[in-house]
Amino acid sequence: SALQDIFETWSTSVPSQEVAPLSKVNPETLRAAIADGELINYYQPKVNLQTGEVVGFETLVRWNSPTQGLLFPDQFISVAEEFDMVDEMTLQVLQSALKQAREWQDAGKLWRVAVNISMKNLASLRFLDQILSMTLAARLEPQMLELEVTESYHADDLRIPLEILTRLHINRFRLSIDDFGTGNSSLSQLTAIPFDELKIDQRFVHGAHIDATRCAAFDASLGLAKQLHMEAVAEGVEDRADWDFLKDKACDVAQGYFISKVLPVGDIPSWLLSWEA
Ligand code: C2E
Ligand code: CA
Ligand code: CA
Ligand code: CA
Repeated sequence: SALQDIFETWSTSVPSQEVAPLSKVNPETLRAAIADGELINYYQPKVNLQTGEVVGFETLVRWNSPTQGLLFPDQFISVAEEFDMVDEMTLQVLQSALKQAREWQDAGKLWRVAVNISMKNLASLRFLDQILSMTLAARLEPQMLELEVTESYHADDLRIPLEILTRLHINRFRLSIDDFGTGNSSLSQLTAIPFDELKIDQRFVHGAHIDATRCAAFDASLGLAKQLHMEAVAEGVEDRADWDFLKDKACDVAQGYFISKVLPVGDIPSWLLSWEA
């Protein structure tokens, strides 16, 4: 569609702030690390822009390697996808995220937990059964679990992914379209999948108040979210000016370094104290 073309032009004309890709890890080392439990969940808060209240936390996986130090997803997710380890990895991440959400709930915190899902995870209906049974075992309402989906891996056949997402929706899990407006997610997905949340990519957020192109892309994305009754989440909120701009625009939720960096779970209580102060 014309709108789709505009988004494609925007996402290529706005320079990406991502750094050059790091060297990829050895697949067999990664396989052993997954088996040995070296992957750990870090968390970043998502907060309501109008009230400042915490609405949930996004899980961002890290690899705590005894030999290589702390590794970031860009160094190993694509390897996990390519060498057939991404289901195992996601189920581990999910398991520990659900355990975390259960602990929060037991402590009276009704925070949702968001987990990133690779398109490759959506290749088999078995994955759906696993999510359902793990959520049930954690005694959590499905709406407490948010699944953030991108298209970083390109599936040839979308029928099974669409069926899984539709069934997750029917079962009241929250679906989120991640990196909206980039090559990793597209308008065509919006028409096919009932998303609850739209995450506006950081390249249309940080500095949008001083850049007409970013601002136009931001406004269009927010407008789509509102018209389709989705919650709009702005990623990459890095400073007070970003925050004020978003609040002004009546965006729903914000996430980024201005609010908090990505935290090991033990650092959440002290962050919360300073945030609520
Ligand atoms: P994402 O889902 O778009 O996650 C947001 C990324 O932006 C994270 O990078 C986060 O650390 C970073 N970030 C947060 N706040 C800011 C900010 O204010 N400014 C800037 N410039 N960046 C910010 P991270 O943790 O390196 O993760 C990169 C990507 O790896 C994620 O992008 C996600 O697509 C993927 N990923 C992370 N964890 C998982 C996982 O468990 N499973 C899968 N399949 N993918 C994952
Ligand atoms: Ca995400
Ligand atoms: Ca994102
Ligand atoms: Ca991203």
